[in-house]
Amino acid sequence: MNHPHGLRLENSYTDLPEQFFTRINPTPVSEPKLLLFNTNLAKSLGIDLPTNDKEMLAQLFSGNTLPEDVSPIAQAYAGHQFGHFSILGDGRAHLIGEQITPDDKRFDIQLKGSGPTPYSRNGDGRAALAPMLREYLISEAMHALKIPTTRSLALVSTGEPVIRSSLLDGAILTRVASSHLRVGTFEYANATQGLEGLKQLADYAISRHYPEFIHQENPYLGFLKGVIERQAKLVAAWMHVGFIHGVMNTDNMTISGETIDYGPCAFMDIFSMGAVFSSIDSHGRYKYGSQVPAAQWNLARLADSLIPLLHKETAKAVKLAEVAIEGYSKEFNHAWISGMRSKLGLFGEEAEDFSLAQGLLDWMQNSKVDYTRTFRDLIQENVPENEAYNSPEFQNWHILWKSRLTRNSRPLKDSFCLMRDSNPVIIPNNNYVEEALAAGEGGDLKPFLALLEALKNPFEETVSNEVYRNQTTLPNPNYQTFCGT
Ligand code: AMP
Ligand code: MG
Repeated sequence: MNHPHGLRLENSYTDLPEQFFTRINPTPVSEPKLLLFNTNLAKSLGIDLPTNDKEMLAQLFSGNTLPEDVSPIAQAYAGHQFGHFSILGDGRAHLIGEQITPDDKRFDIQLKGSGPTPYSRNGDGRAALAPMLREYLISEAMHALKIPTTRSLALVSTGEPVIRSSLLDGAILTRVASSHLRVGTFEYANATQGLEGLKQLADYAISRHYPEFIHQENPYLGFLKGVIERQAKLVAAWMHVGFIHGVMNTDNMTISGETIDYGPCAFMDIFSMGAVFSSIDSHGRYKYGSQVPAAQWNLARLADSLIPLLHKETAKAVKLAEVAIEGYSKEFNHAWISGMRSKLGLFGEEAEDFSLAQGLLDWMQNSKVDYTRTFRDLIQENVPENEAYNSPEFQNWHILWKSRLTRNSRPLKDSFCLMRDSNPVIIPNNNYVEEALAAGEGGDLKPFLALLEALKNPFEETVSNEVYRNQTTLPNPNYQTFCGT
């Protein structure tokens, strides 16, 4: 079959019962303009669009024109938002189709900010430019940091204002995800679709993301454990780079184990277990140090939703779910310590590695030092001279760490190599992100593009990340991110 521009779009999701989605087209916009196009991502998806035809790309990635034979949908889902259950759904997103890549992988191509749907409730179906720039930048940075995430393929401005606390420029982001199945999709199925609908959804999710469990004796239990394992690894990876998601509601947690929905997210500068930047998270439900239990709570909502499938006797199903959820801590601890060993250049395993890693974090918390920079400083022969490093607390820790390094099975240079590969020189620091977004909102994308480029090789000292590495601007202690709509 002929696929113009390599667009091989299918839609397997619409094989589910019709209550799982609504067929609806994006609402056209008056003056779409292409701001960003991710050529490398397009290539890896097998998409070959004429990048010099900006008008054509703007029409396509605004939803004004649709590829041939596609029938866009908005997906239904539910979710616990800050602990409260609601029926939700894509209120401002359209799934254009599932792109089949040259190596036969399947990725959702979704427009976000593309107009209202029956799930919009009181929303306008639109998105403002700065939050979509933020999602583009941070999702691509996360990918470069080797953390599973949705990706960003394109960004267009709409030429239409959106009404928030003031009038802002509208924009549409094209998001690529290995699927948009969420914990909230299962909550929706369990709450509204009966056993049969729930089973169809679970079978679909298993065949799409966990085919290894299809022939297991209890595929649904295997599936639950699989999601728990991937999410435990994901949250450990966030903790390792100091990422704070900001709005870990169950509708923002994927079944695939990818990070999704970059709203009020931010990276920590000064280390604090209590770091929270989101303006809507006044109680710190999703602060840095609470992400680990928050993910477990969300996974327990997935387990609740799967109870009818786990065993025909409810009491036995509940027991299976409980044991699986308890297993999260073990998965998380394993992923966390193995990542911390890499960050500290440790080979082999010693029981004291936990307290060694924790000791460094405790010192960081008390000394209010920059999280990312501290790990890079450790790679140097001698850590820099300053008050924090000269303190007896740090010096004592440093002696313990050095002595642990001597017990490594490998030479010191291997440790430093491992540390260089595990500790970024650059993360999307709040100061640079804000500057780039503010300029972008004002029509100047240069700072954004420079930062995007610098974040492409976060583990290497490159020419493009040099200015950011050497920055001396101080973190803003009152920094806040807004929900980003
Ligand atoms: P979020 O907090 O971005 O994960 O969104 C939570 C829910 O609100 C989802 O169902 C979104 O589709 C919906 N939503 C967010 N912003 C809008 C908007 N501007 N118009 C319609 N629905 C929205
Ligand atoms: Mg969401």
